[in-house]
Amino acid sequence: MIIFATYYFTMKVGILGGGQLGRMLLQASANYVVETYVLENDKNCPAAHLCHHFVEGDIRDFNAVYEFGKNLDALTIEIESVNVEALEKLESEGVRIYPKPSAIKTIKNKIKQKEFYKQHEIPSADFIITENSTDLSNYTSFFPAVHKIAEGGYDGKGVQVIMNESHIDKGFNAASVLEKMVNIRKEIAVIVAMNDLGETAVYSPAEMIFDPVLNLLDYQISPAQIPEKTYWKAEAIALKVIKELQSPGLFAVELFMDENENIWVNETAPRVHNSGHHTIEANYCSQYDMLWRIMLQYPLGNTAAIMPSAIVNILGEEGYNGNAKYEGLNAVLEMENVFVHLYGKNQTKAGRKMGHVTILHKDFTNLVHRAHAIKNLLKVIA
Ligand code: ADP
Repeated sequence: MIIFATYYFTMKVGILGGGQLGRMLLQASANYVVETYVLENDKNCPAAHLCHHFVEGDIRDFNAVYEFGKNLDALTIEIESVNVEALEKLESEGVRIYPKPSAIKTIKNKIKQKEFYKQHEIPSADFIITENSTDLSNYTSFFPAVHKIAEGGYDGKGVQVIMNESHIDKGFNAASVLEKMVNIRKEIAVIVAMNDLGETAVYSPAEMIFDPVLNLLDYQISPAQIPEKTYWKAEAIALKVIKELQSPGLFAVELFMDENENIWVNETAPRVHNSGHHTIEANYCSQYDMLWRIMLQYPLGNTAAIMPSAIVNILGEEGYNGNAKYEGLNAVLEMENVFVHLYGKNQTKAGRKMGHVTILHKDFTNLVHRAHAIKNLLKVIA
């Protein structure tokens, strides 16, 4: 069934968080009739100047979130660390929340998230729950393993590899998950959208390529270069995760492919995701456009790829702190089918995500070659 919404008023939609994901979401909103609101502590954040109404406040604070949301038609998040209790109250009062607070609750805590996968027989590495770092010495037979703090970790900061007993002191002294080490051959991500009617749309898997020396994301390729049967398996597993979460919204399911081409769920993000930046230019309907379609109750969009693509992140160069300058920008802008996105952050520091570049080409070798060229050309200095 297709729903055609006929609204005689302008819907008011709020975003909790004002980073680059919020910024790109707002860019897509300009194609629709919608009044946009952003709640964020930093009034100079990337999304602050693209919304109709910016509200300064803490997304983790009950009152700030409740007051922000109570007169809105719908709300979404661009980061998981939000006050879920306020969202539950808003939901009970009729505000539509994407994703549902129940889904955010499951995902926000890595213990709950892992238990959810187990309960629904979704393949994910075996795990043990630990209360503190000394607990780890009881599970030496489980090593090599990965220790993950239940709440508050992001961008790998809440993750420690425990190869053997000598690494136990690297463990977290807080409620955590000790997860069996997977022999990862590829890291992939699948974006899944679900509307209020339970209809779904899936994007092709994207593949993360890591720098073997720095262990940092080097670039991303879409579609992932994986065997066809693995491709369908990844999509089916990602779809099952979202169906079991029973929530409309847009999600990214991060997966591992091991050396035997088995697929394991690493984690799910209940929001637009960095692994989907390429969909702005590389797919008919971007992940951002898709989320607006869901929130404004329009039909889902076409997830098909127009062309294969690569994404290179633009990170603050090591050793530079201060007003950002973009070295090599003109040279990159001169390249064919290359799209630059700068996030509007004035200040750079080592490793800060300042923007990304999307490259389109039908040939995989060309994509990899140009991804490397752009990484070497474009530097953020101060
Ligand atoms: P974050 O939520 O901070 O991004 P992740 O849970 O995604 O943390 O883990 C960060 C990285 O650690 C992954 O991208 C992967 O390279 C590695 N990792 C995580 N879990 C495992 C595992 N079970 N086995 C092997 N490597 C893992």
